[in-house]
Amino acid sequence: MAFYSLRILQELFGIGIGSSIIGRLGLRTILEIRITLHYLIKNDDKKLWEKWRMYGAGQAKLSALKFDENIDPPKHINVENIEKIAGEDLWEEFMTINLGNWSGLDLRRLSEKSGLKDIYDSHYSWTSGYTHGTWGPIRESCYQTCGNPLHRLHRYPGRIALPETVEDAALLVDDILEDVDISYPSFKVRICNNDK
Ligand SMILES: [Zn+2]
Repeated sequence: MAFYSLRILQELFGIGIGSSIIGRLGLRTILEIRITLHYLIKNDDKKLWEKWRMYGAGQAKLSALKFDENIDPPKHINVENIEKIAGEDLWEEFMTINLGNWSGLDLRRLSEKSGLKDIYDSHYSWTSGYTHGTWGPIRESCYQTCGNPLHRLHRYPGRIALPETVEDAALLVDDILEDVDISYPSFKVRICNNDK
């Protein structure tokens, strides 16, 4: 989970990505990892770790099952890879597929149970709007207001630069690395502050 969040952060470092729509999707995913990992580490229950892992493998199986010799996968899917991932931990035939969220709790409940409701509240809803393509983010990123007073504040399309996401993402990644340090002491490298 830490490697995944580090990779997203590294991708956010690309020129212009941090202030893009995609930057928000990246931040949203890092937030989810931060909350989920903290929940897992706080509970530190072998059954819960297994449930998380099996859910992911089950999702791989479900994704692979959608494509057989009659249905071609889209370009971004390598069915062979996904099948391999699905069967790595447990022989596929024995695997159950859980639908919905891996824990049976939504991210808000996970954040409450792991003491991270504050970062959930500050980061979740606006970034999720970007993930779902709702009006607010569309308005913020794709339209500006016309300055001509005779035009009664109509909006017109434009590619708007958005506030930077990199620093928020890096701070979340550092929190994730704090949890890595709890599980694998001593791991002291951080993105923003290396003096700890
Ligand atoms: Zn106008």
